[in-house]
Amino acid sequence: ITHRDLNTRTWVSVRTNRWKHTTSSRSVPDVASHHPAEVVSSFPPLQTYTEEEGMMREAVKKYAQERIFPLVSQMDENSQMDKEVIKSLFEQGLMGIEIDPEYGGTGSSFFSSILVIEELAKVDPSVAVLCDIQNTLINTLFVKLGTPAQKEKYLNRLSTDMIGSFCLSEAESGSDAFALKTRAEKHKDYYVINGSKMWISNAEHAGVFLVMANVDLSAGYRGITCFIVDRDTEGLEIGKKENKLGLRASSTCPLNFDNVKVPEKNILGEIGHGYKYAIGMLNEGRIGIAAQMLGLAQGCFDHTVPYTRQRVQFGKRIFDFQGMQHQIAHVATQIEAARLLTYNAARLKEAGRTFIKEACMAKYFSAEVATLTTSKCIEWMGGVGFTKDYPIEKYYRDCKIGTIYEGTTNIQLSTMAKFIDKEYNV
Ligand SMILES: Cc1cc2nc3c(=O)[nH]c(=O)nc-3n(C[C@H](O)[C@H](O)[C@H](O)COP(=O)(O)OP(=O)(O)OC[C@H]3O[C@@H](n4cnc5c(N)ncnc54)[C@H](O)[C@@H]3O)c2cc1C
Repeated sequence: ITHRDLNTRTWVSVRTNRWKHTTSSRSVPDVASHHPAEVVSSFPPLQTYTEEEGMMREAVKKYAQERIFPLVSQMDENSQMDKEVIKSLFEQGLMGIEIDPEYGGTGSSFFSSILVIEELAKVDPSVAVLCDIQNTLINTLFVKLGTPAQKEKYLNRLSTDMIGSFCLSEAESGSDAFALKTRAEKHKDYYVINGSKMWISNAEHAGVFLVMANVDLSAGYRGITCFIVDRDTEGLEIGKKENKLGLRASSTCPLNFDNVKVPEKNILGEIGHGYKYAIGMLNEGRIGIAAQMLGLAQGCFDHTVPYTRQRVQFGKRIFDFQGMQHQIAHVATQIEAARLLTYNAARLKEAGRTFIKEACMAKYFSAEVATLTTSKCIEWMGGVGFTKDYPIEKYYRDCKIGTIYEGTTNIQLSTMAKFIDKEYNV
């Protein structure tokens, strides 16, 4: 297969056919060791991809350009994800990247998910977050915690036609997520959920909701339990979507639970362990958001630099002014640094090493870099960058969410500081 032939579908079939072979032979490049005693014979650069990762990256790049790019502006304007985009994400195997082919998934790696999110975000960060939440939060929770029956029922759908939403935040519990008030009361062999959630991404199109509710408020966060709630369950109401600054094609809705009856068999994992699952998933999920912000910054930069190489003022290309070159080189360096932090966190996670501090750093830094890049790009484009004739102003609006969801910037910094404090605790 040459790169010219490549599309995501061929990648998926190549990947699926090779699944058995590649799982055993997949080599994860080693990354900066946290254990000084460990001897590593060679150090591949962080931007080293396995053959399948490289192919997937190329295929998604092509897919995003051909199938998503023409719809981006319209989806933003209408605040509506195009149904064909959702359908094609499933067809391309991008909604079940790590799900085993046995359940209709693509059977690839976490790092591949990160590359896919980055590539999608270059074109549309709203599409990227749809793919991100499905792969890094929803699918992973089902894969790690699902009973055989839950896996059979949901993984097949999640890889082929069903979107899942992750429901933790409430009006009064954001950063302090485990102060949540939604409760689940036990009756014979079912629970009754009452309460409400806020800010639930992709809720407009989701078929299943993973809902954190407390089964025993007196136990505090140790009562938090994860429930699988199907969209059509009586008493579940999906509210009007938020009218947002950016990420407008991604729906963000409140949910209301009015005596929602959920069978006991719909508990995901163990009773009272929901807080652990939420923390664990969000630690991994942050690497996905870092990849989203990285892709967003790169996509914006890629639209802008060619303009600076064409636009002439004072008789020369604006790129040729040293004052411009220094700024452009500075931003390129920041993007490269964000990429290295993000890839390093992903490789650490995949290698089974500790990665929480590095994931926070990647998410924090990539969001900062996206903010800097999009702001600078508007300036470098001059007046036209400020208009909707170019995609730059959209990237500028979309990037702001990177400092807010899956833990605000302050929360990332506080978590990093906890680790740093411990490291110096001799
Ligand atoms: C578009 C969008 C999509 C989202 N998607 C989802 C989703 O799918 N599922 C879901 O469950 N949630 C989702 N969220 C919710 C998101 O995770 C929360 O908005 C976020 O955690 C922040 O909570 P908050 O908005 O209540 O802000 P607050 O917690 O009220 O924070 C306000 C400010 O106070 C600061 N602050 C708070 N506590 C501290 C502290 N201890 N130290 C220092 N500073 C602090 C924060 O950093 C922030 O600057 C989404 C939000 C948005 C906007």
